[in-house]
Amino acid sequence: DEATVEGLRWKYHDPERLKDAEWRLSLLSQLDDAIDCGQVWVAYQPQLDLRTNRMRGAEALARWTHPEKGPISPSEFIAAAEQSDRIEKLTFFVLDHAVAAAAAINRDHGEFHMAVNLSARMLSDKTLPSRVREILDRHGLDPARLTLELTETAELSSGADIGPLFDLRDLGIRISIDDYGTGLSTLEYLKKIPASEIKIDQSFVKSMRDHRSDLVMVQSTIALAHSLGRTVVAEGVESREILDMLVAMKCEIAQGFVVGRPSSLNDLSKRLFGERKRRAA
Ligand code: C2E
Ligand code: MG
Ligand code: MG
Ligand code: MG
Repeated sequence: DEATVEGLRWKYHDPERLKDAEWRLSLLSQLDDAIDCGQVWVAYQPQLDLRTNRMRGAEALARWTHPEKGPISPSEFIAAAEQSDRIEKLTFFVLDHAVAAAAAINRDHGEFHMAVNLSARMLSDKTLPSRVREILDRHGLDPARLTLELTETAELSSGADIGPLFDLRDLGIRISIDDYGTGLSTLEYLKKIPASEIKIDQSFVKSMRDHRSDLVMVQSTIALAHSLGRTVVAEGVESREILDMLVAMKCEIAQGFVVGRPSSLNDLSKRLFGERKRRAA
């Protein structure tokens, strides 16, 4: 009917939408080159072990500094890359840097965990486990020091082959369920994914002091995770108050601005050296 056709016409001629679609498409076409010429780099955000009050490790987060546009948020280029095979190159780029960094830090400081994000799309690559293993071997990192964070997506809940996840786990790599609580069928997912860790989404953590329903979500997720023998990481911990609440709730690990912002490897190393010096003093 006329109204719908008009609506569509309006939608596709909306200059903002068009610009947005074009922008994403052009980003996507530039991503491979951006990786090759050093515009893409890896930031590391510390994770605090609440049981020992020591830095347990870090999460590797992709960063793109565009020569003209400046920093581009992962939310802008990752979603687009995940719709295509470009996510593969990015994933291995980040993995290679993060594993090398973790191996170096482990040599200097001992026990250090590295978490790297893995798109569900990557699971369709049957060579994934052997490629990850090759990277670990090449840099000499114990597989037990690597966690792969997987976000629940529609394709995962609709029965994608998760066989490679079991192979990765059998290599000794830890699997973490990222952004827990925001997915579509979280309980079923929890049952079938061989994860040793659950990462509670920041949307619950940030507001759990002010919203009782978020507090209840965090509490019950921790209880559920613990009864299944899984470790809990809270993300988006922005205040000391929330940190203290998480300690009281027996959450094992905290990640967020109050613990530390994502930073360069150099800054992360400096911080680790600082902590070691303070402990020795
Ligand atoms: P994520 O894996 O859930 O990562 C956590 C995001 O929360 C990061 O955003 C981090 O900078 C941000 N964050 C951490 N602490 C706080 C806090 O206290 N408050 C607030 N407001 N935010 C906090 P970032 O770096 O923008 O990354 C966004 C998402 O992009 C990530 O969410 C992850 O899903 C994806 N991503 C990033 N790097 C990669 C990558 O190398 N591969 C893949 N597949 N995805 C990636
Ligand atoms: Mg993550
Ligand atoms: Mg997350
Ligand atoms: Mg998140």
